[in-house]
Amino acid sequence: MLRVGDILSGLLEWAPASLAWERDNIGLLIGSADREVTRVLVCLDVTAEILTEAVQRGAQCIVAHHPLIFHPLKSIQTDTTHGALLAGLLRANISVIAMHTNADAARGGLNTGLAALLGIRNGRRLDAIDEVEQEQGIGVVGDLAEALHVRDFLSAVKKALGCSVLRCTPFAEDRLIRRVAVCSGAGSSYVPAAVATGADAFVTADLTHHTFLDFQSDILLVDAGHYETERLFISLCAEELQRRFFEDTQKIDILRTHTDTNPVWFT
Ligand SMILES: [Zn+2]
Repeated sequence: MLRVGDILSGLLEWAPASLAWERDNIGLLIGSADREVTRVLVCLDVTAEILTEAVQRGAQCIVAHHPLIFHPLKSIQTDTTHGALLAGLLRANISVIAMHTNADAARGGLNTGLAALLGIRNGRRLDAIDEVEQEQGIGVVGDLAEALHVRDFLSAVKKALGCSVLRCTPFAEDRLIRRVAVCSGAGSSYVPAAVATGADAFVTADLTHHTFLDFQSDILLVDAGHYETERLFISLCAEELQRRFFEDTQKIDILRTHTDTNPVWFT
């Protein structure tokens, strides 16, 4: 019988803890490493709807991208949304594992996955952790197979990421896009690094008015949304778990969430 600790060990082989941002909070956040597991539910964020889904689908363990507990807890008040969720998970005896910036930076992690979705070839890291091999780190920059007109590029990004709209810097209609940098999630701090590579465009999320303003002459900035640039975590992580455990003699079911937890709507 597999246990939560086995799931965690397998995930850390894919995305080692050493890759995580030093102030991140990854690993087993709720529950016990000894808890037996037959079903794992993979999602981006743990919400009340995800808890309900885990209970209904019989999952004993949730693997999420974003840490449900990040800031130090000073209290757990069950009349708050967060406190009620923590209490609900404990009552349901459901463990929660977070794979966050370590999964962003891993080989086969979110940044390389995002680059692959957008057709970026010969990618190298914007911020390599292993300077020599360039295989782990935050952000990827590389080239499209052929230069695209800017509107075709933006349409391709929308299609690949399932976006209804994109936020981007103003552009001339005849602009061509060949070299593309990406950073899943909040990537504004990597804009200067993307510009330094000579990239024509940088696809990321959570860009502010002033970032658009300050860099509009240097690069086509594309804010595709935090959820939209990170939801591929669900398939990447599920595939990693499947590869490691599905052929185990004591099989487990790897469930991909059916719940859309995007907290941002466009109306
Ligand atoms: Zn994120």
